[in-house]
Amino acid sequence: MPVLINFKICDNAKECGGITACKSGAIYWDKEKKTIAIDNSKCTGCGECVKECPVGAIRLAKTDEEYERIKKEIEEDPRKTSDLFVDRYGAQPIHDYYLTTSENFDSEVVQSNKLTVAELFNDDSIQCLLDSIPIKDLFEGIDIKYKKVELKDNSLLEKYEIKELPSLLFFKDGKLLGRIEGYKETKDKEAVKQEIKEITSKS
Ligand code: SF4
Repeated sequence: MPVLINFKICDNAKECGGITACKSGAIYWDKEKKTIAIDNSKCTGCGECVKECPVGAIRLAKTDEEYERIKKEIEEDPRKTSDLFVDRYGAQPIHDYYLTTSENFDSEVVQSNKLTVAELFNDDSIQCLLDSIPIKDLFEGIDIKYKKVELKDNSLLEKYEIKELPSLLFFKDGKLLGRIEGYKETKDKEAVKQEIKEITSKS
């Protein structure tokens, strides 16, 4: 069962979590060529390396058909590593700039006189970067302040009766305009953008 690496989005570092996760030595650091390399004859198909890659650059094909499909996907992937270094909905924040705390939630989000959206998340709700939607894509053309809030307790969940994380809560001048609950993937992007347009048009 071959493993494939999408080097278009892989940072090709010897600290790769996939190398550490691979107990059979099938995925390794080639010292001479200074690159991550694969010896598929040693691969057991356990999938542990795939779980370790935060951007989905390591792929595992279980059949020949799947191998051809993944190979084609990689060949046609228009992304490059820099495309991944943007903040995304449902992903660990890259920039501290967007982060705020539960303690500052009221002053920075709820009472803001500017249209503001807060993404509430916790450790369990963080998803792979591969399918997460870049924040800038979601709010294209909308003048809005964006904040990410990592929840350490249930106080905000209870106060706003949130059932699923990550969630987006929209506020202006102390008023909750609307919410979108649950993780959304790239395939949901247009539908989410439409929902956002409807919520933010109330401001
Ligand atoms: S699928 Fe398992 S054996 Fe194969 S390269 Fe990944 S971690 Fe190693």
